[in-house]
Amino acid sequence: MTQNIDDLAARPPAERELAEARRILACIVESSDDAIISTTLDGVITSWNRSAGRIFGYAAEEMIGRPVSLLYLPDHRSEIEILERIRRGERVDHYETVRRHKNGQVVFVSLTVSPILDEAGQVIGSSKIARDITETKRLREQEQLAQAESRAERRFRKLLEAAPDAILEVDADGRIVLLNEQAEKMFGYSREELLGFNVEMLVPAAMRSGHASHRAAYTSDPQTRPMGTGLELKAQRKDRTLFPVEISLSPNRTEDGLRVIALVRDISERKQSENRLLAVRELFTAELAAKNEQLESRNREVEKANRLKSEFLASMSHELRTPLHTILGFSELLTEEVEGPLNPKQKRFLGHILQDSRHLLDLINEVLDLSKIESGRLELQLEPFDFASCIEEVVSAIRQQSETKSIRLENRNTFRGLLNADRLRVKEVLYNLLSNAIKFTPEEGHVWVESLAQNDFLQVAVCDTGIGIPPEEHEAVFEKFYQVGDTTRGVREGTGLGLSITKSLIELHGGTIWLESQPAQGSRFSFTLPLAKP
Ligand code: ADP
Repeated sequence: MTQNIDDLAARPPAERELAEARRILACIVESSDDAIISTTLDGVITSWNRSAGRIFGYAAEEMIGRPVSLLYLPDHRSEIEILERIRRGERVDHYETVRRHKNGQVVFVSLTVSPILDEAGQVIGSSKIARDITETKRLREQEQLAQAESRAERRFRKLLEAAPDAILEVDADGRIVLLNEQAEKMFGYSREELLGFNVEMLVPAAMRSGHASHRAAYTSDPQTRPMGTGLELKAQRKDRTLFPVEISLSPNRTEDGLRVIALVRDISERKQSENRLLAVRELFTAELAAKNEQLESRNREVEKANRLKSEFLASMSHELRTPLHTILGFSELLTEEVEGPLNPKQKRFLGHILQDSRHLLDLINEVLDLSKIESGRLELQLEPFDFASCIEEVVSAIRQQSETKSIRLENRNTFRGLLNADRLRVKEVLYNLLSNAIKFTPEEGHVWVESLAQNDFLQVAVCDTGIGIPPEEHEAVFEKFYQVGDTTRGVREGTGLGLSITKSLIELHGGTIWLESQPAQGSRFSFTLPLAKP
């Protein structure tokens, strides 16, 4: 602000006083450290003090009469708002904002804007006091940054101390330059006993000499990697005891040169549980091997016993069958009375001999069959054969038994094709089922066999109107030596092996056998056998 103060003395006293006051005011404004600027309501600059020149880089001559918006940065929405407030006669205090210096740099300022009123109290312009706070702001930011850094460092330090692993930093000469609390605990040294000392003091004495060269090798190719891959690493405590460790190394390039950070993990517990696990496993393996050995020897014994049993049964059945055939043969001869007539008593006795000998022969044959089936030595002679003729043979062989009991025996088979099966064994199956049917059907009853070809199988059913079997016994009748208690009372004369052998024979052929029956309502034994492929 410049003011012509010439001829001051020539003015009237009141005017003189006013001029004096203006001069003092101008001095104050000029000497202020803050930029003091006044503008019209349209923002045209009307005064500009020296500090304004210093802060914004423009001289008063450059700025007076020009718009204050020259100092604005592109986004100056808030300036418009301030202007609005001034127009309403309000004052804005210490408003922090940015302005542009003549050289283009951003200046941070704290603004106090007040309205200028005319004598009538009308707002005619504004005065702005701008304080340059760029430096303050920078210092404040620096301080905040420093605080944040030290906070982060403190946090990082805590992290380092709380780590479950020992962390050591070692310089190029192998000296420990940094360590955490866990390192003290793990190795049993205090911080003072470790700092500045060679890291080799933590290496087992026997390995120390090699360690220095390992360190040198690492320094020549420093990478983050585990130490001594594949080796069982050990570390040494202050009390000279050793413990297993896992170490991972990473390089740390600092202003003081290359340093190596070593992360040391005590794996004693892990090793212990590994060892325990190993011991348990070894124990189990040993036990298992012993058990296996036992089992194998028992298996061998069983096999041997089985073989002996089969051999015994085979030789015994041979030994038994030969004299039995002699008994049967001669008894039959005698009944034919070729060698002379027999009296009725003799005939009756001979009848008993014949009946029991046949029964004994059946029993021997069945036991032999069963022992063969059980030892897996029964081999089927599979061949295509005509089922109709096979069933006819069985029915005629058994007819005499049915006639003795006045049972109507009927062959209702309509199947004329070929089966792929063991003909003799199929006859055995049919014979077993038919003789059971006759055996367990009272006199004047009815026994028949029927068949139905379905898909690849022939389904055969042997039916009777006999005593029947309660449903809860349907499965058991196929078990070895099983005979239905009450129902067979009075007619029991078998071995309880027939159905068990029959079932095995059917299953050996790939077929199935099942029973439908109710007490006193007869039985229906059904089974399937494979058809011969055309
Ligand atoms: P076994 O006839 O020699 O006693 P099976 O194994 O052939 O032996 O038969 C076992 C039992 O099943 C018989 O004792 C009998 O109780 C019962 N059973 C078998 N077939 C019939 C049938 N058709 N009717 C009633 N019960 C039967």
